[in-house]
Amino acid sequence: MADVVGIKLIKDEIDVIAVEVKDKEKIGPQIINQTMKNFDFANKVYLANTYKRSFNKRVWSDAELHGVGLIWIKSKACVEDPPLLIGKNKPNPILLDIFLKKNNIIQCSICKVLVRKWDSEILSRKFFTQDSQIQRPICRECNKIFNEQYLKA
Ligand SMILES: [Zn+2]
Repeated sequence: MADVVGIKLIKDEIDVIAVEVKDKEKIGPQIINQTMKNFDFANKVYLANTYKRSFNKRVWSDAELHGVGLIWIKSKACVEDPPLLIGKNKPNPILLDIFLKKNNIIQCSICKVLVRKWDSEILSRKFFTQDSQIQRPICRECNKIFNEQYLKA
């Protein structure tokens, strides 16, 4: 699991950015490999290093070859070094699902917002769709609207 993960919704699609953070003078292929494991669930993957010197040329070309972005954390400033040029990875939907579950992140089945499990009023609510009756998670806001609509009817 990555050290830092950012998740947001872009047009109904879950976009995950994963950052592996190190403080090492030598970045070997095993660290690049470890970083690349995050491609299982992330669209973009970065390796950040807090070491006083930036990445060397070999790490640059390795990272570029595998589509891994590099971030050099220099005191309090971050330098994307070099910028990530490679396009988005398509994560494995099953592994992305496992990652979200492990981190207690649910997606509201109505408005598609991403919330932590404890930020949803009811974790799973039975509601009816045209063709099926299934248990699906919904967020607090939708739950409120749902209840208001239901009570009105
Ligand atoms: Zn919702």
